[in-house]
Amino acid sequence: MADTAERSQPGLNPAQQRALDLLRTRGVDRPEFPAGLAEELRGVVEDALCGALGQLDEPLWVGKFALGRVHGCEVRFLHEDGRTLTPGPALVAGTVAHRAIQLSVTWRGDASPLELVDAAVERIEADGDRDSRWLAQASPAEQAEVVGTAAERVGKFLECFPPLRRTWAPATESPLRALLADGQVVLTGRVDLVLGRSQGMEAGKAFVDFKTGVPYLGHVEDLRFYALVETLRLGVPPFRLASYYLDGAVLHCEDVTVDLLHAAARRVGEGVRKLVALRAGEREPVLRPGPGCRRCPLLADCAEGRAHLADEELG
Ligand code: SF4
Repeated sequence: MADTAERSQPGLNPAQQRALDLLRTRGVDRPEFPAGLAEELRGVVEDALCGALGQLDEPLWVGKFALGRVHGCEVRFLHEDGRTLTPGPALVAGTVAHRAIQLSVTWRGDASPLELVDAAVERIEADGDRDSRWLAQASPAEQAEVVGTAAERVGKFLECFPPLRRTWAPATESPLRALLADGQVVLTGRVDLVLGRSQGMEAGKAFVDFKTGVPYLGHVEDLRFYALVETLRLGVPPFRLASYYLDGAVLHCEDVTVDLLHAAARRVGEGVRKLVALRAGEREPVLRPGPGCRRCPLLADCAEGRAHLADEELG
């Protein structure tokens, strides 16, 4: 039976109530998964990998970004492989908004979006990493753009997401890691927000990833990848996956099933095999035009990419 006290918190606006309904629903649809699921999935990935493993001199770390790229345009994957992203206001604003939302989860008392963003910027500046270096040399106008964009997203989050209760065990930037083939391949990920706990083989966690921009199939694949890594790591998957779009304050959810996890395992196996072959020069990279062409650094010299975008514009 549904926990009605939990499901209808007083004072929630309709957007918050909708998000709460999608993410919680305690006692209604928490599925039990079969014992042995993790071993079954490990077998699926390792069977797909076996040809590639002999070529590895050191452990291969694989995350959602590389997998997404290798399943997209392989020419772009090879071009960008090993390069670091150049930050700009849009990228840094995304990082700041993520960090501010993370702070809002455990912040004691009320905080305005701007207070959260200022605190996030302070912490990022202290990190001494790529984004902090960019912030240090950014002009006042660029810094103001970052703060303004991030504060707007945080404001929407606070407006549309239900306040998180401590009993939901919220965890932000939760790292995941699973070792395959005796550690030759390491799958890694970091979930923006985890709510709930699993009990035995009953799945109890919802994974939420915060996204900027518009919904894209790759976002769904990213979350399925996380669900697979969690299952390999813990033995039991999350019960629900959600992408929360900060710009539109929209939540897209999907329930985890055994079939979904098998598909994710096959995608990882195939992706790692392609990745190894491309890096070794044993596979001719496949040009695959798609939505990513818009931000591809090779676009100016890629007739197929430009033709694809022209077709898209014609509708
Ligand atoms: S423009 Fe598109 S098709 Fe061309 S290399 Fe880039 S991603 Fe691939």
